[in-house]
Formats: sequence, C-alpha cells, structure tokens
Amino acid sequence: MYLKAFSHFAKKINQLIRPTRIDHHLISIAAIDIVSQLQENNYEAYIVGGAVRDILLGFPPKDFDIATSAKPEEIRQIFKHSRIIGRRFKLVHVIYKKEIIEVSTFRTAPIEKIHMKNGILKDNEYGSLIEDIKRRDFTINALYYNPIKKKLIDSYGGENDAKKRTIKLIGEPNKRFKEDPIRVLRALRFAAKLNMNIHRQTLIQIKPSMKLLDTIPHARVFDEILKFFLSGHAKSSYMIFKEYDLTTKYLPALNNLDSNFEEFVFKALNNCDQRIANNKHISPGFIFSVFLWKDVFNLWKKIETKYPHSSIALNEAIESVIFKQNKVFAIQKRFLTAMSEIWRLQIRFENLNQKKVYRLFSHPRFRAAYDFMLIRAESKQFDKNLSEWWIKFVNADDGSRKKIMNKKNYV
Ligand code: ATP
Ligand code: MG
Repeated sequence: MYLKAFSHFAKKINQLIRPTRIDHHLISIAAIDIVSQLQENNYEAYIVGGAVRDILLGFPPKDFDIATSAKPEEIRQIFKHSRIIGRRFKLVHVIYKKEIIEVSTFRTAPIEKIHMKNGILKDNEYGSLIEDIKRRDFTINALYYNPIKKKLIDSYGGENDAKKRTIKLIGEPNKRFKEDPIRVLRALRFAAKLNMNIHRQTLIQIKPSMKLLDTIPHARVFDEILKFFLSGHAKSSYMIFKEYDLTTKYLPALNNLDSNFEEFVFKALNNCDQRIANNKHISPGFIFSVFLWKDVFNLWKKIETKYPHSSIALNEAIESVIFKQNKVFAIQKRFLTAMSEIWRLQIRFENLNQKKVYRLFSHPRFRAAYDFMLIRAESKQFDKNLSEWWIKFVNADDGSRKKIMNKKNYV
C-alpha cells in the first residue's frame, strides 16, 4: 500500500517536471557548477528551496542550497574545498571561491515517534528525492531546479503559490506544526520577508500551535528571531511580531511603546534594512539594544536622582532590564556586551571635553553607539544640535576636527 502510493507519487513527479523560464542570471555560477559535477559523478542534484523560490519571484537569492542523492562523505570526495558540518544532521559546505554552497543529502521526513532525548527531532535519515520533497515545509520551499536540463520539479504547486503570494504548509498543518514547531516562526518570517499571505488552513493552526514553540531548544528559536531582524525586512518583521503578539513571548519591551519610542524603533529598523540593502552588516547586539532601549531609558530616568552619578543609574537600569528580559527570553551572552556598551556610551555623547571626545571616538563600539545616538536624535530623544556637532566631527578629517573641537559652542 505504502509502496503503491509511492510509485504513484513518482509517476506524478515525472508529470510535474517541466521546462521553466528561470532566469539563469540570478543563479550563482558556483551552484550550477556544483550541481553539474555531482551529476557527472552520477548523483542526482538540484538547486532547492528558498533559492528557487526567490528566483521565481524575480530577486537574487542570498544563498544557494543544493539537494543531492550523494552522501556527505561522497560529496566531500568530489569537492576538494569542502567540509562536513552539522549537529542535527550532517551536510556539506562546498567552498567555491568566495561563496559557500550548502549541499545536503536527500532526507526522509521525521517520524514523530523517534525524538531524540534532548527534544531535537530525529530527521537525519537519508532518503530518496521523493522523500526529500515531502519533508519540506512550505509549497514555495519545495521547488527543485535542475539547471543543466533547465527543468523544475514542483510537486505541490509552489510556483503557483509563489505567484499567488501564498505561504502554505505541505500536508496537514496541524501535524506539520507539531512535527517541528519552528515552522510557526518560519511561516511568519516568510510572510514578513516575502510580503505574502498565509494560506487559510495554515493560518488557522498558527495561534493554537504557538505554545509548541516553547518545546524547541532556545538556540533554534534565537537563530530564527535573528533572521527576522537581520535579513533586510526588519520593519515588516516588527509588524508581524506585533500582529501575532510575539513581542509578549520574546520581546515584551516592545509592548506599549509611546509614539516617540515607536518612532525610534521604526527609524532604527529602517536603518537596518537600508544597511542590508547596501550589503552592510548589522550586529545582533545593535538590534536588541534598540528593542530594549525604552525600558532602559525609562528606568534610568526614574532612578537617576537616587545616584551620585547618572552613569551609575544607567548601569543599574541596564542590569535590571537585561535580567528581566532574560527571564522571559534569554539573549545570548555574546551579544550582551555589545548591547550594554551601546547604551553605556550614550551618556558620553553629552560631554564635549576634548579628551573625552577623542576617547569615545576611539572606542571599539563607537560606530554602533554613534548610529544609535543619531537615531535617538532623529526621534527627538537626544539634543539635535549636539548630534549635529558629532556628525560634523565624525565626518571631518583630522585637521578640521581640531577646529570643530574648538567650536564647542554648538548651540
Ligand atoms: P531563507 O534562507 O531565505 O531564510 P530558505 O527557504 O532558504 O529561506 P532555509 O532555512 O535556508 O530557508 O532552509 C532551506 C530549505 O530547507 C527551505 O527552503 C525548506 O525547503 C527546508 N527547510 C528548512 N527548515 C525546515 C523545517 N523546519 N521544516 C521543513 N523544511 C525545512
Ligand atoms: Mg536559505
């Protein structure tokens, strides 16, 4: 019975393979070459998932994934510059000039009963192409493209869904969310990233499945949240966070922002999206420092008079806010230092004493703190004249900097 269903599916796949007008200009040469080499070695190989989806939508993918029948060790043997990686499952990174292409072996769908002890789904069983297609999350992510034959395998109508701008889970939504609850966040992330709607049946299961997210290892959720905000669609991600109340679950400081702080957050998120569009980097510490700033600032101002120095009050506020946030959803330690420094440096922009200005200017975290201060000034939280003095100072050459330093009567 099982086999019969399978051969039926295989037949169906053959009918679904079709020539397509995929724009090869949007495909990385590395990806095509790797697929070609795998095929020359008699393995099946396709460009898969998000990359195919993005190309069909007409924009260049940020990275390329390849799915193949070759096992990790076999892939390793074909590509000299490659390494096997992965904790949850093994996959191979092929290093091709400056690009890294992820090559993974076809896998089966996870079987609900075999969960590993630590709550991580056991989904590292190798499988066939058909099984690999079935384990994919959304129809728009289950697209396989053979760039040599220029044929697309689209077993679940993903191309059509992409055109209709619909995010639709493959199979029964309730079951697929239970199988791997991170898909709840993925559905919402793709809605933000691709500006798409979630298909009705998938959408119905989102809210009831939300609590399953608590069963996922923290690091997986954390990575997913970083993708929401560091991939060039931070502003729409923020809207989705609000709409689905993910703020209460992960970033309660974003609830009840007054219009000033909301303006500050919007400006910062726009700024981040702009940076990504210009191929610049955003540090996760910066994003979190923006998100928690309202709480830090309000507490700082509330307790300021109790301390001999404002900076001590600021430190107290920082510690207290981080403690509170970490009880709800812990921010990884490696980002806490950056966050705290961005906040701590804010107070130092108020002091134009020559020695202090230069010391601040040479601080390793100056640039992030400076960007943060400028956004504060733009949203009426920091003296505009003072911020303009800093802009002049930063953009000047060494000689003119001295002159600017002497003109501290900026008002
Ligand atoms: P992007 O990289 O733009 O965020 P993507 O679709 O490429 O989007 P990845 O996380 O890179 O997302 O995953 C690559 C592919 O692996 C997906 O397109 C999907 O087919 C599959 N995939 C990833 N995570 C899951 C999951 N939790 N369940 C099922 N399939 C998944
Ligand atoms: Mg991807």
